[in-house]
Amino acid sequence: MDRRDFLHRGGALIAAAATLGGAAAGPALAKPMTPTATGLVWDDIFLTPVFSPTHPEQPERVAAIRRAVEAQGLTRELRPIAIRPPTEAELRLIHTDDHIAGIRRKHGDAIDRLGRAGVGAALAACEAVHAREVRNAFVCSRPPGHHARNDGEVVGFCLYNNVAIAARHLQRNLGYKRILIVDWDYHHGDGTEHFFYEDPSVLLFDTHDWRAYPRTGDPARRGAGEAVGTKISVDLPCGATDAQMLRAFDERLLPAADSFRPDFVLVSAGFDSRTQDKLGCFDITDEGYRQMTTRVCAIARKHCAGRVVSVLEGGYNFEGIASGVATHVRALMT
Ligand SMILES: [Zn+2]
Repeated sequence: MDRRDFLHRGGALIAAAATLGGAAAGPALAKPMTPTATGLVWDDIFLTPVFSPTHPEQPERVAAIRRAVEAQGLTRELRPIAIRPPTEAELRLIHTDDHIAGIRRKHGDAIDRLGRAGVGAALAACEAVHAREVRNAFVCSRPPGHHARNDGEVVGFCLYNNVAIAARHLQRNLGYKRILIVDWDYHHGDGTEHFFYEDPSVLLFDTHDWRAYPRTGDPARRGAGEAVGTKISVDLPCGATDAQMLRAFDERLLPAADSFRPDFVLVSAGFDSRTQDKLGCFDITDEGYRQMTTRVCAIARKHCAGRVVSVLEGGYNFEGIASGVATHVRALMT
């Protein structure tokens, strides 16, 4: 891998340029009518540091996940999915030219390249599910994306809104109509809400702590115009338990999904809602994530042949995120 370190002093951003395409292509994939495999999107570019060494968003987040998935023997059954660079047109499905230019101008090519890799990873996962190469997939990318809007800036560690771009790619380029996005990150996905607030074709279910960054996620905000009722914001208190989280899934998400009837499900899978996270104060356990995943997969099986793409968002306790993601991936595989 061709790498060169560089330091962005003004923003305390450190990044290393890296070439795309580190993931090995898998064997020729069979395409059964009803695929059963789970895909894993990974590329060594996600080991590129972009923030200062004391920043919580570190390459060790995904390195720890990778080790845990391998240690549990899951990689033998997971189908590798290679990332691809997104086109400019795909970035512009959600982002403005000013935002795209601003990221590169203010933060440099290396961090922009990492951000684009995250977008390409999410798009590749959607395409593999669409092509029936896999039933569902987990995208092990960083940094997160759900705070990204069109500020021309890195906000909340986010450059490009991977999940929002994936949703629009599914709709505009792959023919899907109704996208369910489940965001269980500790923080409110304000960027994702922003892009789809007036759009009835995207059902957004977001659990979060309204008092935390970015201090949005008012439960009274339910969408606008024709989209009223398609945005479900669930504010949970510090110390929120599995039972509280699962009650929100059962009482709010399941009935909404049944009337919405999604044809594709995306997950903004944040693990800073897990117990003992550095940036969160919820108390969600691995068993909680297993049951949340099971519910999401049940919705997908009922309405859209099991099509789920789950994209890593936050999670800053390295051991915690590794354990939580391994549990999540194992549940996707069942
Ligand atoms: Zn978060």
